[in-house]
Amino acid sequence: TIGMVVRSSTGFSAGTSSNGARFKIPGRIGDSPIPGAGAYATELGGAAATGDGDIMMRYLASFAVVQQIEIGTKPSRATLKVIGRILKDYPNFKGGIVAMDAKGRFGAACANFPKFQFVLGFANGTTIVKSVHCKK
Ligand code: ASP
Repeated sequence: TIGMVVRSSTGFSAGTSSNGARFKIPGRIGDSPIPGAGAYATELGGAAATGDGDIMMRYLASFAVVQQIEIGTKPSRATLKVIGRILKDYPNFKGGIVAMDAKGRFGAACANFPKFQFVLGFANGTTIVKSVHCKK
């Protein structure tokens, strides 16, 4: 899944583009197109997720991260909390979530991948590649 969180003067937008899971059952929808699961955004923050969508959609992972942001949790902590919550139930879960808040703070957390990379893009065209180590 390619996930994107965009911050503008009026708030956030978030979206995903996914080919879905490997060996998926025909007709499977997955988490990516479901608001709150694959991506979610409000005027205060946005989040986008990738990974095992059949698990992530049970937690509305992107919604849960934005909810945390809305009560003041930093994006890095918010993503870690939600990934941690999923890992409690599914220790082998593979996935990652990236998020940003209205202060421009960003963060990501992931599980059972070696690392999770994301790109910060700025209005002037500058990009910065970031990477976080994943929880096991
Ligand atoms: N989340 C996607 C899905 O489960 C897969 C992916 O992120 O690669 O459909």
